Amino acid sequence: MADLDPFLVFGAPALGEDEIAEVVACMRSGWLGTGPRTARFEHEFAGYRRVMPNQVAAVNSCTAALHVSMIAAGLERGAEVITTPLTFCATINAIEHAALKPVLADVDPVTQNIDPDAIEAAITPRTQAILPVHFAGRPCEMDRIMAIAERHGLVVIEDCAHAIESEFHGQPLGTFGQFGCFSFYVTKNVVTGEGGMIVGRDVEHIARARMLALHGMSKDAWHRFGDTGYKHYQVLECGFKYNMMDLQAAIGLVQLAKVEAHWQRRLAIWHRYDEAFADLPLGLPAPPAPNTRHGLHLYTVMIDPGRCGMTRDGFLDAMNTARIGTGVHYLSVPEHPYYQRHHGWRPEQWPHAMSLGRRTASLPLSPALSDEDVERVIAAVRRIVLAKVPNRLAGA
Ligand SMILES: *Cc1c(COP(=O)(O)O)cnc(C)c1O
Repeated sequence: MADLDPFLVFGAPALGEDEIAEVVACMRSGWLGTGPRTARFEHEFAGYRRVMPNQVAAVNSCTAALHVSMIAAGLERGAEVITTPLTFCATINAIEHAALKPVLADVDPVTQNIDPDAIEAAITPRTQAILPVHFAGRPCEMDRIMAIAERHGLVVIEDCAHAIESEFHGQPLGTFGQFGCFSFYVTKNVVTGEGGMIVGRDVEHIARARMLALHGMSKDAWHRFGDTGYKHYQVLECGFKYNMMDLQAAIGLVQLAKVEAHWQRRLAIWHRYDEAFADLPLGLPAPPAPNTRHGLHLYTVMIDPGRCGMTRDGFLDAMNTARIGTGVHYLSVPEHPYYQRHHGWRPEQWPHAMSLGRRTASLPLSPALSDEDVERVIAAVRRIVLAKVPNRLAGA
């Protein structure tokens, strides 16, 4: 019996001996919790996003970053926050955990990002914030979104989970709004296992977010238990346990040093996919907008049953049989029972997000993919799609 091809795991992180060595060094140092490596990671991340070191706070997830950002932004209980239906559930859940009310505004069918006109249409007297998600790393239209926010006196909090490298008109994403929230989850562009970062425009707001992320305590443990003598802390607010560990920062420090090399690798894979799929009846990602930098986090293709002769789920199954892992980013938020039950939402209310979510499939784009892996993905996609549409391509 022929050996099976190894299963190509979707979103596998690119980890090397240097990440392993830094984690071992961290363990040998005896300092596992929040400490010097977390401080260095914050410092280097601030440099990468071109903000001051006192404008960032490392936390243990992007979900945590979103949660404490919304509290630190001082929004009133029950206020409405406008966001996209084409996002991970964490975006919406964080709004609810901050005692705020999520309001969805549909996406642009081409960019897959929240449509500024739909934001404007969703504004009510209770709206206090906009939470744009830079889908797949493609920047939202931040000039228009910031203008709307200014006109209506709204806070902007950016979900930058896909957008570590992204820029809009030369400015790093995460620095337009009051807060930018980043993820270092295992599938993201910089990996710490679990991890996140808050970037804040206002140093007082980011200081409050940092305090909320560690029990609402006035001084963090690194300073309390260091060699400068015991320091009493005060609990100033009822906070959370959201701090990043040095063990996580150890991975992040090495990963961040590779962020541009990994982006270049994904760019090469992206171009290869664009070229290899150009003649197939698939929807491909829209080219990046002028004067923007795309984070290239997800390469999503659209499987239109009418054009492809198969459903999206049929495509996913066929890829799985070819031992290639895929993802779905995302079934629109109102497809999930909780949001239907709790908010009375129906997918049809946001037709673009619904339609994209039912047709989309994400192909492997990890910088850990070898050239052979990439060619394997291409061959599988071409074989699966062409098997269903032989006439169109042979005949036309
Ligand atoms: C991954 C992700 C999050 C959550 O990030 P965590 O670090 O896992 O909490 C939030 N929003 C979007 C768009 C994401 O993709």
